[in-house]
Amino acid sequence: MWSFETDPEFQKELDWIRDFVRENVEPLDHVLPSQWNIHDEGFKRLVRPLQAKVKERGLWACHLGPHLGGKGYGQLKLALMNEQLGRSRFGPITFGTQAPDTGNSEILAHFGTPEQKKKWLEPLLNNEIVSCYAMTEPQGGADPLMIQTTAEQDGDGWVINGEKWFSSNAKFAAFYIIMVKTEPEANDPYRRQSMFIVDAKTPGIEIIRDYGYHGQAEPEHAHVRWTNVRVPPENLLGGRGDGFAVAQTRLGGGRLHHAMRAIAESQKCLDMTCERVVSRQTKGEPLWKQQMVQERIADAWIQLRQFRLMVLETAWLADQGRDWRDLRQEVSAVKVMMTKVLHDISSMALHLHGSLGITTDVPFSDHLMNSFMIGLADGPTEVHKSVVARQLLKQYKPNPEMFPDYVRWKAQEKQAQRVKEAG
Ligand SMILES: Cc1cc2nc3c(=O)[nH]c(=O)nc-3n(C[C@H](O)[C@H](O)[C@H](O)COP(=O)(O)OP(=O)(O)OC[C@H]3O[C@@H](n4cnc5c(N)ncnc54)[C@H](O)[C@@H]3O)c2cc1C
Repeated sequence: MWSFETDPEFQKELDWIRDFVRENVEPLDHVLPSQWNIHDEGFKRLVRPLQAKVKERGLWACHLGPHLGGKGYGQLKLALMNEQLGRSRFGPITFGTQAPDTGNSEILAHFGTPEQKKKWLEPLLNNEIVSCYAMTEPQGGADPLMIQTTAEQDGDGWVINGEKWFSSNAKFAAFYIIMVKTEPEANDPYRRQSMFIVDAKTPGIEIIRDYGYHGQAEPEHAHVRWTNVRVPPENLLGGRGDGFAVAQTRLGGGRLHHAMRAIAESQKCLDMTCERVVSRQTKGEPLWKQQMVQERIADAWIQLRQFRLMVLETAWLADQGRDWRDLRQEVSAVKVMMTKVLHDISSMALHLHGSLGITTDVPFSDHLMNSFMIGLADGPTEVHKSVVARQLLKQYKPNPEMFPDYVRWKAQEKQAQRVKEAG
């Protein structure tokens, strides 16, 4: 059964979210530092009251099931919400759905012990704290088999040594979830890693440098050195050697959520451009009268519409009970597309705004840079293209014959044979 309708009750919520985000949340992008800096006085003054309104409306942390204090809306409704939230860098945190906390809460909910959930998950879901996910290392992030950081058993506990890279929000986080090598001798290389929860105040964790990129309010992607960091045994998340399985649980949803927010960013760029081209004059008429301008607007709308349907279908498939492993072809395809769509539409917006478009007073160069960011974070585009192709090609068998059956003369020969046999 196919339907593209939105439940009218939920549409009312979406309308409320749209107005709330535009009036109250989007302006924060211009006045506050990092959206993860929950310790900032401005955050406390401006964001906390908005979060309270969202909670009052019953729209807090909607990605979670009711047993975790969320609505359990599922991926499709979350996608429709994210189409609004992604317009502002403060959208997700105002609604309790910000990465990497969403992914971290997902794996804590799946693999955490009751004690771990009480200590880390509960305050994380309430946004009393924020968290960091430390997997990538300086020597190569696209290939997680290159992870070198180790955790060695020492008495009862573990001792972590190594370096992590691009550990986003490390400086604001109350805890890390870190992937480290614990089973170097395991035959299966995908069974050599484990996950630990580490209190950010543990001695031996040193932020060497924070990196930022164009459009970010402040540098917040940390290069972190881990020297003899002692971790108690109860901080192992999942079993020994389960690191890859735990990581996969968080990455599928995380990638799709990025795609949902990329729809919002692209739509915002398109909205601004449409307003501009019906307002700006050239050669005595509005800019939109130029056919080349029309072509760019039309291409952007078509591209965004295709992408949106792809994201919504993938979200819908997830809601039908297909797990992230089973959906990796679809999720990787969406991951590849989001980079291109946001890149193309933010570039169009920048260009059609002329000199204003290139300035930092409009957000297009930020969105353009974001398109590169989402092509790297959670794995580069090439790796995801490779997943799509490999998954697709698994469905095909090699044909031992020189000429395939779909060559015309062969098809005709077969048909002739059938006619002869039928008399
Ligand atoms: C803004 C941002 C935030 C991030 N936050 C986090 C975080 O919180 N925690 C965390 O652990 N990591 C984080 N990352 C790291 C991210 O996951 C890695 O950047 C990503 O996995 C790529 O790794 P790398 O940067 O080391 O690139 P490399 O591995 O050096 O790859 C560089 C390039 O080589 C090419 N390439 C690599 N492998 C292949 C291949 N198999 N086939 C074809 N081409 C290939 C691609 O063009 C790729 O972009 C973040 C990254 C960014 C940009």
